[in-house]
Amino acid sequence: MTPLKVLSVASEIYPLIKTGGLADVAGALPGALKSEGIDMRTLVPGYPAVLAALEEAQQLTSFRGVRGGMARLLAGTAHNLKLFVLDAPVHFARPGNPYVGPDGTDWPDNAFRFAAFAKVAAEIGLGSLPGFVPDVLHLHDWQAGLTAAYLHYSGKTALPATVMTIHNLAFQGQFPAELLEPLGLPPAALAWDGVEHYGAIGFLKAGLQLAGWITTVSPSYAWEIQQPETGMGFEGLLRARRNRLSGILNGIDTQVWDPATDPRIAATYDAAHLSARAANKVALQESLGLHQEKDAPVAGVVSRLSWQKGPDLLLEALPVLLEEGIQLALLGSGDAEFETKFQEAAETYAGRAGVRLGYDETLAHRIQAGADMLLVPSRYEPCGLTQLCALRYGCVPIVARVGGLSDTVIDANEVALAAGVATGVQFSPVTADSLAAALRKAAWLFRNGAAWRVMQKNGMATDVSWRQPARRYASLYRELCGTQAEAQSTMSAA
Ligand code: ADP
Repeated sequence: MTPLKVLSVASEIYPLIKTGGLADVAGALPGALKSEGIDMRTLVPGYPAVLAALEEAQQLTSFRGVRGGMARLLAGTAHNLKLFVLDAPVHFARPGNPYVGPDGTDWPDNAFRFAAFAKVAAEIGLGSLPGFVPDVLHLHDWQAGLTAAYLHYSGKTALPATVMTIHNLAFQGQFPAELLEPLGLPPAALAWDGVEHYGAIGFLKAGLQLAGWITTVSPSYAWEIQQPETGMGFEGLLRARRNRLSGILNGIDTQVWDPATDPRIAATYDAAHLSARAANKVALQESLGLHQEKDAPVAGVVSRLSWQKGPDLLLEALPVLLEEGIQLALLGSGDAEFETKFQEAAETYAGRAGVRLGYDETLAHRIQAGADMLLVPSRYEPCGLTQLCALRYGCVPIVARVGGLSDTVIDANEVALAAGVATGVQFSPVTADSLAAALRKAAWLFRNGAAWRVMQKNGMATDVSWRQPARRYASLYRELCGTQAEAQSTMSAA
């Protein structure tokens, strides 16, 4: 079988630039797809961090960008990733976060920045690089969404297959309708079956409307986004296109996240030597100023502190958590209000609640290795990665029954416990009361050591790697190419 060529269009990619789960997916997929016979290259914007990491860079083309500045398309590699990089200093030579300026608000020219990015993706899709003519364009989130529109309105009939993936529907890329012409789109595009979204131009809307297939990162989230309460204004479109929408779970890098070899943790261990986790618990308690009590269950949290992740629910349930004799080990950063409240909680409950504000990969590993359970009280969660890491580390996930959390954790209900298949605790609805009830149940299970051990081992035996997801993406690409080839041969026959 000749390898299928896929261009992944991603505005961030781990380990070069990351603000969320999208970067993890974009960074992991190319490697995971290799054994599936897929040659995936990734187009990324030329942020300073990307240009600095690029090796063997080769200039493929140079041109004047949408806003007049000069731009170059480079090819190169970084961390084993084959990249195309849009080096457009006028758009991307800015330090810090890729989407917001130093004052915390969106860069005012985001429409032009990501339109330029999408335009280049579409041109590659139309065959501008003879050395790499993709069969499929895989578009990630709103930053890549307009690619589908540039292809659709290109006037060409031989188009590559397209997949639009939603990593988080909350980020939609909405811009004023007056930008239609400056962005190089025809008047006809400003319609319900084009890029128009509630009177504006929607970059994500363009992708969802015009891509050949839509995926999101869990089957449950694929269902939730079709419902009025959780569809964030897209439920109608997504319901109409539900036969072209599927959920494919994310995986994690099981080499980076491997308790048997992890250099960041105090003591390595595997499922057959779970007692070796104890040293990690002691180290974690020590580093966060928690009392050295080996019988007190430690509940870890590794999270952005934003409304989505339910930090307010956790604060409300904190009295019950402490009453149950559970210690809290929280690592997070985000909204100032939540940061302050957790800091205050750490002072009020010194020795029982340990808090570290900031982003810290090492401590994230140490929490997974040393905590007994991981709390994920998200209000919505497209897939979620922290609970996958927790499963792998024998840290029992206590999760809200939403999105990918409900698809990846087997709740310790009566039947699952009796069958010995549970891997965690789910709670619903997503309220402080039901989180508190889940904490009570978790504390009870923890003290009943045997059931807890079974849950830890089941979690560690769960396949959270990219193997299955990569297989699903590969078969989706092949299916779409087959369909595309058929559609084109029917068109030329007619
Ligand atoms: P989201 O992408 O919505 O933030 P996910 O669970 O999908 O949530 O992915 C978050 C990733 O970022 C996980 O790998 C998690 O371990 C990591 N992470 C989140 N907050 C922190 C933090 N403060 N320090 C270190 N890693 C973090």
